[in-house]
Parts: sequence; C-alpha cells; structure tokens
Amino acid sequence: MTGLHEVTRAIRAAEREAGRPEGETRLIAVSKQQPDDRIRAVLDAGHRLFGENRVQEAAGRWPALREAFDGIELHLVGPLQTNKVGAALDLFDAIQTLDREKLAAKIADAVQSRGIAPPVLYIQINTGEEPQKAGIAPGEADGFIARCRDTYGFAPAGLMAIPPADEPPAPHFALLAQIAGRNGLTGLSMGMSGDFPLAIAHGATCVRVGSAIFGDRLPRQT
Ligand SMILES: *Cc1c(COP(=O)(O)O)cnc(C)c1O
Repeated sequence: MTGLHEVTRAIRAAEREAGRPEGETRLIAVSKQQPDDRIRAVLDAGHRLFGENRVQEAAGRWPALREAFDGIELHLVGPLQTNKVGAALDLFDAIQTLDREKLAAKIADAVQSRGIAPPVLYIQINTGEEPQKAGIAPGEADGFIARCRDTYGFAPAGLMAIPPADEPPAPHFALLAQIAGRNGLTGLSMGMSGDFPLAIAHGATCVRVGSAIFGDRLPRQT
C-alpha cells in the first residue's frame, strides 16, 4: 500500500477547487531514501515520474528500474555539483536545480561537447533568501533567466523553489509564480507533502511529493 492514490485524489481536488483543468499538475514521486519495494509498488501502480535529490543514490537504483519498467521519467530535485554534471545528464531526464552561474556554464559545456540538446531545466529560486539554501536570489532571477537563454542557449522549462521550513509557504509560491510570469516561463515546480494543495492553488504545474506517497524515509547510510 502506498499513498499514491490518495495524493492523486488530493491533487485532482485541488485542481477543481482552483478552477484549473484536471490532470494539469504533474506528480513527481520523490523516492530519495525509500526502500526499493515501496518504489516498485508505485511503479506497479502505473506511476512513472520520479524525483531524486542525490546523483549517487539515483545511480545506484534507477538503471535497474529503467530496465524493469518502461517509460520512467526521472528528475533531479537536489543540488548538483559541477563534477557530477556528466553523470546527471546520463541519469536524469530533467534537472530542477539549476541554481548558479557556474553550473549553467558547466551544463552548457557538457551539452556542446556531447552534441546533445540541453536537458529539461528548472531554475531554482531561493525565495526565502536563506543563506544555507541553494538557488538564485529573487532580485537576480530576471538577469539569470536572460543569461540562461542568451549566453547558455537554454530554454528553461520553469522555476523551482523550496520555501523556508518555518514560514507559511503561500507568499513564496506567489513570488515564484510572479517571477515565472514576468519572464514568460510556464513551469512551476513547487509544493511537497505538507503543502501541495496550496501550491496547486498558486499555479504549480508539478508538485514534488515524497513521504505522503511512500511513507517515512529511511535514515541515510552515509
Ligand atoms: C525530499 C524532497 C521533496 C519531498 O518531500 P516530502 O516532504 O517528503 O514530500 C520535495 N522536494 C525536494 C527538493 C526534496 O528534497
């Protein structure tokens, strides 16, 4: 048993309540620190879109699952070190955590040297301007988005944010939507287990839900 069905129902209800088309919101099942049997149960139920926050953990798990199940789409939702860009491009269909200039340059280099199309990219915005959190400061977002397009040749899919844990998330969702809107970006990755219905009310196009689907995470090994 997983919470997949319940979460999906809650997403549809939030869409209806917000007057948005049903099925518009994509559900990213965040499988970090979850045992394989829970992930397989969600795959067996037909779900195919997943998120991981560490390259190494994803590398240990998803190649085998991709062999066992067709149509898997995997998003990186955690910080990416520049020395792992190559591995990330091999593993992930989308990188949701483009959070600094150096990483943009590194991805652009890797894309060029491999002769591939850029991956699906979301730019992470540090809406709460928390010093310990990754992301572009809201005041620098417009310039960074422009450089992604003009300097690096990306067409960003949208923006991503993780609001501060100790603040009401609504103003952060609204800020992210505002930055996206004025920059012509349609993708909004926001909302987790505790607040995804509210994120949908603010226009989220994908929500990243872990524990509400899989249950509590296991402690990290390292
Ligand atoms: C772990 C994680 C999630 C999911 O968190 P839950 O509270 O378990 O839903 C969402 N987004 C990111 C970036 C995460 O690291």
